[in-house]
Amino acid sequence: GEHRLSDFEKIKILGRGNGGTVYQVRHRRTGSIYALKTLAAEDSLQRRQVLREVEILRSTDSSTVVRCHGVIPTPSGDTSLLLEYMDAGSLESLLAARGKSPFPEAALAGIARQVLLGLSYLHTNKIVHRDIKPANLLVNITGDVKIADFGVSKIMRRSLDPCVSYVGTCAYMSPERFDPDSYGGNYDAYAADVWSLGLTVLELHLGHFPLLPPGQRPDWATLMCAICFGEPPQLPETASADFRDFIARCLQKESSKRWSVAQLLAHPFIACQDKLELDRALQDIISPVPAPTPSES
Ligand code: ATP
Ligand code: MG
Repeated sequence: GEHRLSDFEKIKILGRGNGGTVYQVRHRRTGSIYALKTLAAEDSLQRRQVLREVEILRSTDSSTVVRCHGVIPTPSGDTSLLLEYMDAGSLESLLAARGKSPFPEAALAGIARQVLLGLSYLHTNKIVHRDIKPANLLVNITGDVKIADFGVSKIMRRSLDPCVSYVGTCAYMSPERFDPDSYGGNYDAYAADVWSLGLTVLELHLGHFPLLPPGQRPDWATLMCAICFGEPPQLPETASADFRDFIARCLQKESSKRWSVAQLLAHPFIACQDKLELDRALQDIISPVPAPTPSES
């Protein structure tokens, strides 16, 4: 049915980004909880982006992608998306909650597997996400990891659509998106999502953004140099051989050498592990840290 903004009560702010504010809301009549993301469109470029995000969310139907339950126009001309509420937050907030201590390998294999299934779904449906990073991968307490935030995504209408760069977060952008001629970017736009996934999984293991020393604030020029002219970051020797190889296959600078989503799903790091074991490892990450027991007095 159609929703109105007045049907919902704001509970708290879940996040803030370029697009706007995301609130946790309660449907007054049913009590159901959702996330409400409001997209402001002040110029025609932003309006196009909003339309694209709405079109993609409306066309996706997969347990690997955050569901959209409605699109609500606001009186001021903004658009509000009623989204499935992901009650364990984003991988960025889960990492921060661990005090930057790395995620164990089994949990990361579970996360990588689920994100690869999501990318497989999107790529099959000709959608390139283009903004895969810890803040855009959301988790619920069931242990589902889902892809969110299609604010800069693209539907590939022609097979050789060039990768058009955009202004925004560029930290997770692949080399070919900066420099298509050197790194083969015009031939496989989907490979850009694999680069970002590799960087994301590596960050969750290292506890800091892999292309910069811990604590350094990213600026565009430093990042661009690190991505295009530096060697791709690697896992330390302490990581397992399968994990190191998996990351190396994702972080090939030349996009044609990078493994595809289908190849990565069959990689030993993902395929040779007991699925139940991966789920359990992921569950350990999600479970809230038990509150300190109040001292008796
Ligand atoms: P853009 O990158 O287009 O500017 P954005 O970053 O503002 O978009 P999102 O990434 O969709 O918007 O949401 C921002 C943050 O809000 C997320 O990182 C997450 O912490 C929180 N959030 C978004 N959607 C949900 C949801 N469905 N459930 C729980 N939390 C959410
Ligand atoms: Mg985001």
